[in-house]
Amino acid sequence: MSDKRLVVVGDGMVGRRFLEAITERDPSWAVTVLAEEPRPAYDRVRLSAFFDGVGAEGLSLASDLPGVDLRLGEPATALDRAARTVRTASGSHPYDKLVLATGSAAFVPPIEGADLDGVFVYRTIEDLEAIKARAEGRRHGVVVGGGLLGLEAAGALRLLGLETQIVEFAPWLMARQLDEAGGGVLKQHIEKLGIGVACSTGGTRIEEVDGRLRMETDREGLAYETDLIVFAAGVRPRDGLARESGLEIGERGGILTDRSCLTSDPDVYAIGEVAAMEGTCYGLVAPGYAMAEVAADRLAGGEATFPGADLSTKLKLLGVDVAQFGAADGPLATTYLDPAEGVYAKLVLSDDAQTLLGGMLVGNAEPYPLLRAGVGGPVPAALADLLSSGEAETGLPDTAQVCSCNAVTKAEIMGAVREGCADVAALKDCTRAGTGCGSCVPMLKQLLAEGGVEVSTSVCEHFTQSRAELFDIVKVTGITTFSELIARHGTGAGCDLCKPAVASILASLGGGHILDGEQAALQDTNDHFLANLQRNGTYSVVPRIPGGEITPEKLIVIGEVARDFGLYTKITGGQRIDMFGARVEDLPKIWRRLVDAGFESGHAYGKSLRTVKSCVGTDWCRYGVQDSVKMAIDLELRYRGLRSPHKLKSAVSGCARECAEARGKDFGVIGTENGWNLYVGGNGGFTPRHADLLLADVDSETLVRTIDRFLMFYIATADRLQRTSKWVESLEGGIDYLREVLVEDRLGICAELDARMAAHVERYADEWKGVLDDPEKLQRFVSFVNAPDTPDPSIEFETVRGQRFPAGTAGRPQAGPVLLGTPERKR
Ligand SMILES: Cc1cc2nc3c(=O)[nH]c(=O)nc-3n(C[C@H](O)[C@H](O)[C@H](O)COP(=O)(O)OP(=O)(O)OC[C@H]3O[C@@H](n4cnc5c(N)ncnc54)[C@H](O)[C@@H]3O)c2cc1C
Repeated sequence: MSDKRLVVVGDGMVGRRFLEAITERDPSWAVTVLAEEPRPAYDRVRLSAFFDGVGAEGLSLASDLPGVDLRLGEPATALDRAARTVRTASGSHPYDKLVLATGSAAFVPPIEGADLDGVFVYRTIEDLEAIKARAEGRRHGVVVGGGLLGLEAAGALRLLGLETQIVEFAPWLMARQLDEAGGGVLKQHIEKLGIGVACSTGGTRIEEVDGRLRMETDREGLAYETDLIVFAAGVRPRDGLARESGLEIGERGGILTDRSCLTSDPDVYAIGEVAAMEGTCYGLVAPGYAMAEVAADRLAGGEATFPGADLSTKLKLLGVDVAQFGAADGPLATTYLDPAEGVYAKLVLSDDAQTLLGGMLVGNAEPYPLLRAGVGGPVPAALADLLSSGEAETGLPDTAQVCSCNAVTKAEIMGAVREGCADVAALKDCTRAGTGCGSCVPMLKQLLAEGGVEVSTSVCEHFTQSRAELFDIVKVTGITTFSELIARHGTGAGCDLCKPAVASILASLGGGHILDGEQAALQDTNDHFLANLQRNGTYSVVPRIPGGEITPEKLIVIGEVARDFGLYTKITGGQRIDMFGARVEDLPKIWRRLVDAGFESGHAYGKSLRTVKSCVGTDWCRYGVQDSVKMAIDLELRYRGLRSPHKLKSAVSGCARECAEARGKDFGVIGTENGWNLYVGGNGGFTPRHADLLLADVDSETLVRTIDRFLMFYIATADRLQRTSKWVESLEGGIDYLREVLVEDRLGICAELDARMAAHVERYADEWKGVLDDPEKLQRFVSFVNAPDTPDPSIEFETVRGQRFPAGTAGRPQAGPVLLGTPERKR
């Protein structure tokens, strides 16, 4: 037994990293670990995965620590620095050197009622177990805090099936990482998931009312009746032991240390979230890991110093990407905003616009690993390209740090690939890259590809199969529920990547009404309410107007409905009429009137066919050579309700003048003297692409049959959220191959594709009518589950140009997709 006694207080993420480092570098220490929690260290960063079916064991960071006396459930209660002992319930533990790694505690604002049953924090597995138990059989939860942690907690409550509301004191979400524009785009995404967001609002008092909770806020008239409240409003370092023993404390809390992690006592080190490194507390794991390495090195006789911290963060909350890296602000900035796609990006540049200093990404963080690793280097050439594909060659120098949590460079990763690491798991084992926050995993995949290794196409961690393979499995086995599919062919409980993907597959293969039984829980909010959620928490109503053709009677009905329910009306580019501003509880009443007048769902909310736009065609236009309106109506009625990997748009032009802009669509048809030309794989919006010519001068029957096959082949083989444009580009052999498959039947599958489309056409039924005829489905259309007749008081309107707008937004300049290619100097 060694006579060098080392006591470590806290077996959290950083304490555990320290133990691994010290036992490897200097096994001569006799180490005692005093740990408050009942289980060995676990991955707190991935805590939310607990709700996703990953149990405590799956999160465990327990490792083999030879010679370490680990005392679980034995918190340190006092520190006597003069006697060099730490007290616990079982006695006194003498030390020669002491390492404090006690982490942080969740901050709970001092408001009345914060200690009531049903009020929680979000820090430990026990917290999550308690939240889960409370949520059982209940419907509603409030999260106080709209930062990184609050969003995680809100995502978790949603996974538990609770209707969830975020209350955030700052004027926008993730205010520490994002600017106002980024926070606004993020809010849109979060609301689309069905999570309510109230910013510039604070809870002031909580009381118990009939077994539930009621939280009042500082906004007049706004209170939440709920079943549970989670405080996720920041953390405070657990520096109590240190304070009481007279160690020096940082100005804003935390145990003050120098760059060697030494405190004001030469025998006491502090590491992780509890340390105020030269006065700064870091709430992230990567700086903590760096401190663990420094302290271990010092105790092994080395001279390491804290290298500084990279505070970059990336969060994937239920499929929404948010990332911030390097500087969030600076003298120059290039911004990109696409409100329709919900994408915002900002790159912060040096004064001479030559060097990337940092930036933020919302809605698409694929370029994050590349951009983060490129901070301090030259500005990337084409931000829009990066955002659209994320697939550019990394072009990183060997010295670039790919994994900031574990300080792993590109050179180390490429070295591991050369030595035989053939997948991400092997790279993780070998280099530790990707084992922290996981945000560099896509980059690891890219580097594997750059190193010549073929990379997995699995949907997510719950299914090893690609979307196309899952499609085949569902088709062959006849499985009709997500739970059966994951039980037989996947692992865990599923996530926001695989659930909607499977929902779409089940719907494409005829899984009944999308709100039937278990199917309902798989849908995202838009599908959930058969309407698109708008920026102020109201919904859109978009009836189908096939080909844009409408009778005066139906126009009058739309006008009357919009007037009676106070809806904003707008004629869209897809040739129909959107009605905005509907309260969720009004949706069934509005649709009752529309359905009675012969309208049906326009599927504006679904990953399915939107509109088939048309020009006026031969009947009214002097130039038209084909009846584009009739063809557009026929196509729209044929493909309405068809669920697909991404939304589908189409258009028919009656002649080569192309007034319907058919070549910018997923499938576009243009009339010729001899029949029709068919174009596929076009795209507007974010990454415009002209569609490719698939067929020329064909008759109507051939045209429709080929579109049937094109759509069914796409639905069966495309990746999750892959647009037809990217799918066509991804096919080896491109448009020629597609022609061989769809026209010449190269794969011998045309009969099956035809049969599948025939089945779709036959079983089509209007989704809104299905809801109106079913009292159970109607029950979901309420603002507050607990008070079905109460409209949401936070929804406010103002009148502009004779119509209603969300309060505070009308007249404010709203950018379309904008790439400020030339950096703008900030004033
Ligand atoms: C839900 C969630 C998500 C997160 N996501 C991210 C992320 O994406 N990226 C990121 O970088 N960071 C994230 N973090 C923060 C990250 O988890 C922390 O930075 C990290 O855990 C800090 O490690 P630590 O060892 O300092 O503290 P902890 O992991 O908190 O460990 C401290 C340990 O000390 C114990 N302890 C305290 N007092 C005593 C005592 N008196 N005696 C004995 N034991 C004691 C505690 O019980 C605890 O087990 C997240 C945190 C949470 C809660």
